[in-house]
Amino acid sequence: MAEREHVRVAVIGSGFGGLGAAVRLRREGVTDFVVLERASSVGGTWRDNSYPGCACDVPSHLYSFSFAPNPDWPRTFSGQEHIRAYLEHVTDLFGLRPHIRFDSEVKRMTWNGEKLRWDIETAGGNLSADFVVSATGPLSDPRIPEIPGLDSFPGEVFHSARWDHDYDLRGKRVAMVGTGASAIQIVPSIQPEVSRLTLFQRTPPWVMPRVDRAISGAERALHRALPFTAQARRGLLWGIRELQVQAFTKHPNELGFVEQLAKRNMARAIKDPALRAKLTPDYRIGCKRILLSSTYYPALAEPNVDVVAGGLSEVRGSTLVAADGTEAEVDAIIFGTGFHVTDMPIAERVVGADGRTLAETWKGGMEALRGASVPGFPNWMTVIGPNTGLGNSSMILMIESQLNYMVDFLRQLDVLGGRAALDARPGAVSAWTLRVQERMKRTVWDTGGCTSWYMDANGRNTTIWPGTTTEFRRATRRVDLAEYELVRLPAAEETARKTEVPA
Ligand SMILES: Cc1cc2nc3c(=O)[nH]c(=O)nc-3n(C[C@H](O)[C@H](O)[C@H](O)COP(=O)(O)OP(=O)(O)OC[C@H]3O[C@@H](n4cnc5c(N)ncnc54)[C@H](O)[C@@H]3O)c2cc1C
Repeated sequence: MAEREHVRVAVIGSGFGGLGAAVRLRREGVTDFVVLERASSVGGTWRDNSYPGCACDVPSHLYSFSFAPNPDWPRTFSGQEHIRAYLEHVTDLFGLRPHIRFDSEVKRMTWNGEKLRWDIETAGGNLSADFVVSATGPLSDPRIPEIPGLDSFPGEVFHSARWDHDYDLRGKRVAMVGTGASAIQIVPSIQPEVSRLTLFQRTPPWVMPRVDRAISGAERALHRALPFTAQARRGLLWGIRELQVQAFTKHPNELGFVEQLAKRNMARAIKDPALRAKLTPDYRIGCKRILLSSTYYPALAEPNVDVVAGGLSEVRGSTLVAADGTEAEVDAIIFGTGFHVTDMPIAERVVGADGRTLAETWKGGMEALRGASVPGFPNWMTVIGPNTGLGNSSMILMIESQLNYMVDFLRQLDVLGGRAALDARPGAVSAWTLRVQERMKRTVWDTGGCTSWYMDANGRNTTIWPGTTTEFRRATRRVDLAEYELVRLPAAEETARKTEVPA
């Protein structure tokens, strides 16, 4: 039987995480790697979310790689098309294309304990790797809730992350289900063109104004001529968020004045007291992600918009029924209902040393040492793993910290030499998780009185990092070998392996 193709590292996904990993590998002199991507282009989040109004809610100079600054960001908060173009540019700039295999969805990856490698089955063929970096993204598999009767809805249905650009919304009666970060960008973008927009709101978000503006030609020229000015700008944006996060993690009660600002933002646009009451959250600001928009409330105040303060509970033909009994007849339903975050589909496809999948291992909740390593899954790490999400700053900062960890992991394996694998010790993972969860107890995410997608089915926050990005950077600078068990091949097999002739 022909030997499988073998690479040193397999990276899964080509969003910020996967592309960042590829750049860092090349910079380390590792060229024997592939990036496996299920789609046919790079970009991840910023390829898949092409809904009208899609944009970042972290300023672009911070929401970009530190090693690939872009002096030409057109706006303070750039739109999806510009971020996608930036990722395409990064791919070319660092010569990543030869490493990327498109249309190669990973179907299964299994730890092969006899050969100390991962056997990977993809839609584009099979291969094996010494080390796997799973960068499949926490927000990449759309979630549509199970609504009775939805299957028999005669109209158009799609998720915000799979926008149907062939469907013309003009003049249609449209239901928007959900009030998260995507929904509040979609609502003002489609409201002027639809005949009626019904917003099904389970929980109102806190919304702050979005101070977005075009970055002037002079500013851009300055950043191009004097790159340290762009760095200073990034540093300032980062520093402000490092200070802000203290209120989220340690002093949630101090966020009360921010609620007053958010209420004023709403009052400026929403004059109807009944609508204001519907839109006013009853939980501490920050408990769910604070959303930024200066156009959401004005759109809701328009006469062709209805806000239904009750989630969608049933579909009867073309009539949508809310939890409070309100009915609306519509032509199209758009779900802005988030993603499979704490139940990522990839976890079903990773099979560890004891034959259990990652999903089975995580049945009681996701846990990973320093957000990366899981016991029983040697030489495997995830990017944006458990408890690495941020409520107020750029995820690229966290991704880059995890990539430092990846680089050190590979260096340690080099130092160990021969066929070796590192498997996180269960005790180290428990100690890490305990520390994270202890800190979580006083954060706004745990105490703010809301139910959010940060929580898993057991009510535990397994998604957010309860500290500053600096603390996470420190925690992921090096791999501490004391936290890992060393797995080696028996000497005889090692010799056999070394004399194996590649096919
Ligand atoms: C609409 C939206 C707005 C956002 N705005 C912000 C923001 O303002 N600030 C912020 O910090 N973060 C934001 N985020 C979070 C964002 O997801 C992260 O910042 C970051 O882009 C994640 O990068 P990633 O590479 O980890 O994942 P992704 O960008 O999701 O990339 C994962 C890649 O893996 C691929 N993949 C998945 N499964 C497989 C498989 N089995 N086989 C092969 N390939 C696979 C996917 O196709 C995808 O290309 C936003 C997310 C969304 C959805």
